[in-house]
Amino acid sequence: MRKPGRHFLQIPGPSTVPDRVLRAIDFQTMDHRSPEFGELGLRTLEGMKTIFGTTGDVIIYPASGTGAWEAALVNTLSPGDRVLMCETGQFAWLWQRLAKRLGLEPEIIETDWRQAADVAGIEARLRADTAHEIKAVCVVHNETSTGCTSDIAAVRAAITAAGHPALLMVDTISSLGSVEYRHDDWGVDVTVGGSQKGLMLPPGLSFNAVSEKAKAASEEARLPKSFWDWGEMIAANKTGYFPYTPATNMLYGLVEALDMLHEEGLEAVYARHKRHGAATRLAVETWGLEVLCRVPEHVSPVLTAVMVPEGHSADGLRRIIHTELNMSLGNGLGRLQDRVFRIGHLGDFNDLTLLGALSGIEIGLSRAGIPHNRGGVQAAIDYLTARPDEQLVHR
Ligand code: PLP
Repeated sequence: MRKPGRHFLQIPGPSTVPDRVLRAIDFQTMDHRSPEFGELGLRTLEGMKTIFGTTGDVIIYPASGTGAWEAALVNTLSPGDRVLMCETGQFAWLWQRLAKRLGLEPEIIETDWRQAADVAGIEARLRADTAHEIKAVCVVHNETSTGCTSDIAAVRAAITAAGHPALLMVDTISSLGSVEYRHDDWGVDVTVGGSQKGLMLPPGLSFNAVSEKAKAASEEARLPKSFWDWGEMIAANKTGYFPYTPATNMLYGLVEALDMLHEEGLEAVYARHKRHGAATRLAVETWGLEVLCRVPEHVSPVLTAVMVPEGHSADGLRRIIHTELNMSLGNGLGRLQDRVFRIGHLGDFNDLTLLGALSGIEIGLSRAGIPHNRGGVQAAIDYLTARPDEQLVHR
């Protein structure tokens, strides 16, 4: 059945692709060995460095984020290597399962999935590892299943304080291009990114940003790899080319998305996401519902996971909102299935997108018979009105 109006894609990624990016992708595919392609390749690789906050190498894979997770591990580690992984939620759990399947030995620091990575726990474990058996520490920057953001600078400080040589690997799949990130300044060795969230592209590209220390580790690493091998990629990328057929049209889109992020300014992009996160949480509190992330310093600027009261179904609410209001919200993943719904407020997103999404949720809560107070949308309007977006006001 036809659903009039534009679908509200309020899952925490893939996010809505702006028309400018769609238009950029909608171009004839070019010869990926031509001189023109070399220029395109160099533009995308250079542009991505600014987003990661690095002057080092960035690798672009024609793959979803899971591929770039695998690439980070197989390029730097050897069979049986111990890796310290923080289980902040479903995505951290999936990365750990992937590591196990590759023949690594993950050691888990668990949380209750309602807070960010346990920095003190990381430091304590590394201090105890006097033989330096742990080869890498893996952290998900923004845990998309819970809406908690980890403090990567603090994780680096903990590793340094413990005097431990482990590599630091960070998943920024749902934070890149929407939450402040500094690969070089925070001493990250491998950063993993994806195209379909803050970068405002369709799914299909993923990234590794790589430190010199990670490149040195890749010389010794013995896990089998071929497609993911950094070596051939970095060599070919020097002139803007790829060792195999690149996702040419996605790269057209990436150039456009990078231009858009730089036109707005990365600091403004980060501030916009924080402001929308705060307005969303205020609406949730006004409804009398609970935000899953229970540590105020850990709340995510890009998504909010909301708990439904005992005896009610988050999936039932999502179904009503999808069918009757033409809006998608994120589902509860893993142990959070049916317990939470997730509101994505990331990417190409403005005040009215947020207010439309919150209105849909407020209507949905009534229709689903979930007990709540009215006025969440109004609280968000008041918050946004009192804090006008400086950029829009002065334009
Ligand atoms: N890590 C995080 C934080 C994610 O949010 C996702 C996907 O949503 C992934 C990893 C997996 O990425 P993909 O589904 O693109 O393979």
